[in-house]
This record gives sequence, structure tokens and C-alpha cells, in this order.
Amino acid sequence: MRRVSIFGATGSIGQNTIDLIARAPQDYDVVALTGAGNIAQLAADARRLGADVAVTAYDDRLDDLRAALKGSGVAAAAGHNALIEAAARPADWVMSAIVGAAGLAPGLTALEQGATLALANKETLVCAGGLVLDTAARNGARLLPVDSEHSAVFQALIGEDIAAVERIIITASGGAFRDWPIKDLAKATLAQASSHPNWAMGQRITIDSASMFNKALELIETKEFFGVRPEQIETIIHPESMIHALVGFVDGALMAHVGPPDMRHAIGFALHWPERRDLPVERLDLARVSQLNFRAPDEARYPALRLARQVMERGGLSGAVFNAAKERALDAFIAGRIGFVDMASVVEEVLGQFEAEAGLIDAPMSLDNVLKTDHLARKKADGIMAERAGK
Ligand code: NDP
Repeated sequence: MRRVSIFGATGSIGQNTIDLIARAPQDYDVVALTGAGNIAQLAADARRLGADVAVTAYDDRLDDLRAALKGSGVAAAAGHNALIEAAARPADWVMSAIVGAAGLAPGLTALEQGATLALANKETLVCAGGLVLDTAARNGARLLPVDSEHSAVFQALIGEDIAAVERIIITASGGAFRDWPIKDLAKATLAQASSHPNWAMGQRITIDSASMFNKALELIETKEFFGVRPEQIETIIHPESMIHALVGFVDGALMAHVGPPDMRHAIGFALHWPERRDLPVERLDLARVSQLNFRAPDEARYPALRLARQVMERGGLSGAVFNAAKERALDAFIAGRIGFVDMASVVEEVLGQFEAEAGLIDAPMSLDNVLKTDHLARKKADGIMAERAGK
């Protein structure tokens, strides 16, 4: 029996993970499941899978969770400390699928216990790549990618020497607005940005796909995860989302990972690694697919890609700044306080403000400094947006 915990169990990745685990319950001992606002789902899954503990991130939802778990034998807990305690419980395999920078601390705690961390939460490596990799190495823990692109690269690299890699190409669907005239983007609504052409995902990542902030995070994650140089990382628009990534080697070979857009492949690969097991995903019929298309991304349409390059070149804590500013700008877009194209300009301005203050980005990468930087970047983003709203 493998001991497993799922952080962000009630979300899109969490539910797909539970789908796989629930198909073979005899193989898994479920330690902790966590969520935030969706108490009914959290309690139902914790009961069904016989988890030791269910945790909501929201302190004020503890009574609701307790009531929903009454008589089940599953312990209920709430709040940030409870999330960290859940991550400290011994587990062999931990899914990191909380959305946003909130996923960082529980993931680090799981790595400190020597667990295998299946990393869907891309913010973890974007905000604190060096710290996360050091923590894993120090504790003999393993990181496995769950983002479909990084899982694809990881699979293409099996048996290969990273020194023989010339380039990594991360594909992008182009999101909801890939065919819109650029001048119309300023008028894009929340509902329009919240619909993805190929993937069914949480709302935040879907909007980040339309703006390509999601791809920007993935480019930074690629640099951190595989230890390649920024100029070795490319991105290309591939509207069908069938090829998830390609790895180019020094002899000119290009290895592509091809499959239907279903996150259960990448989750299942990480769950069963180093074995491959049968997964309930559609098998591609290439004759039916018939053709695959590619085009170069336009940085005027997707300024987030240019900002990602800036962050990759800059290093230090600039990833934490980038992500925090992006999260606040996204909150503001969702709340209807700023427009779609304003998100990138807010992030750019926050990065500029940090650059102007000597030493901030180059502070040592400790969890404390990452969290302080995250907090300050959010404050600066709020300040910029308040000032713009006042004009
Ligand atoms: P969802 O929004 O669907 O789910 C997010 C999860 O995090 C939910 O369980 C939610 O709880 C929980 N949560 C929200 N806020 C907090 C908080 N402050 N503290 C603790 N938990 C919180 O997201 P996705 O599943 O789409 O994405 C999860 C992560 O995986 C993201 O980092 C995303 O970038 C990454 N990812 C997602 C992919 C996808 O296909 N969806 C693909 C690749 C990566 P509740 O719902 O109960 O409020």
C-alpha cells in the first residue's frame, strides 16, 4: 500500500488524481486530502477514500468541515498550519495541486519528509526553484512534473544525457484569444477568457492560458526543473494541443510527446513512475487527427512571454515577484477591476519597481525571503492598480 496525500484535492488536478486512485483503492492508503472552499467535495472524497485527515485552507470553514465529516472517522482541520501539519505526515507520494503561491510551503514540507512530490503547482518552481531543488536534494526526495509539458519533456529525456539537449520546445494552444484581432483584446470579458479551446481546467489557469501567463510560468518552470539556459527554451503555438513538448538534441533529433489533452496521462505517469501502467486515456487515432498545425507566437499578443524571458535572464527572486504580481492582477481582472490587457502591464510595472530598488531581487532564496517578496510584490501591484483606478 502506498501512502498518498493530495493537496488541492477539490480542484481540477486533484479530482483527476482522485479519479485514478479511486480505480484501485486497494493500492493506496490515503493520508491527507486538502481543499479550500469546496467543503462538500472535500468531505465526500475523504469519506470515500478513507483519508486520515481532511484539511480546508480556510480557518472559518472548520465547523462546516467537521459537520460534513461527522461519524466518518476522518479528522478535520483548518488553516495554514493545519496544511503544513498535513504535509509533514509521512507519505510516499504527494500531489501538489493547490493553485498559486499558497502551494509552495506545503510542497516544501513534503519534500523535507523525503516524499516524492508530484508537482502540478507550477508556482512552486517559479517562485523558489533553487530552494525547492536544494530541499529535495538534501532530503533524498524526488520531484516529478505533472504539468503536461514538463511531463512530456521528462519522458523524452528518459535515458538521455541533459548535456546532449540543444533545445526544449514547449507547445501552447494559444488560449481563448489566439485568433482575435489584437486590438479587441482590451475588450475581452471574464466569461470569454474563462473558456479554453482544448483543456478543461480551473478558472485561473484557463484565464492564464488566454493571456499566456500560464505559458510564461511554464517557461520559467522548464528552466528551473531541467536546469537549461533560457535561450534553449522555445515556445510554439500548436492549436490542437496534441504535442505537449519537444526536445531537440545536438544531433538534430527532435523527440515529441504526443497524446490527447487529458491530464490523467501526466498525473498517472507521475503516480506510477518509474513504471508505466494502463491509464484510462483515449488512444490517439492519427488518421482521424489528420493534421497538426504550428505557428510562431506573437509577443505583441502575448507580452507575458517577453516578461518570462526577462525573469529567466534575471533569476534570483524575480520569479516570486512575477508570480505574485500576476496573481494580484488576475484577482483584479476576475473582480472586474482591470481589463484583460492591463494584467501584463501591471506585472511589468511591478518588475520595474523591484529592479529600481537595489538588492530586493538578489536577496538569498529562503522561504522567508520568498514569502516577503511575494507579499511586497502583491502590495506594489495593488498600489499600481489603485493609482491607475484613481486617474
Ligand atoms: P483549481 O482552481 O481547479 O483547484 C485549486 C485547488 O486549490 C482547489 O483544491 C482549491 O480548493 C485549492 N485552493 C484554492 N485556494 C487555496 C489556498 N489559498 N490555499 C490552499 N488551497 C487552495 O486549480 P487546478 O487544479 O486547475 O490547478 C492546480 C495547480 O495545478 C495550479 O498551480 C495550476 O497551474 C497547475 N496545473 C493545472 C493544470 C490543469 O489541467 N488544471 C495543468 C497543469 C498544471 P477549493 O476548490 O476547495 O476552493
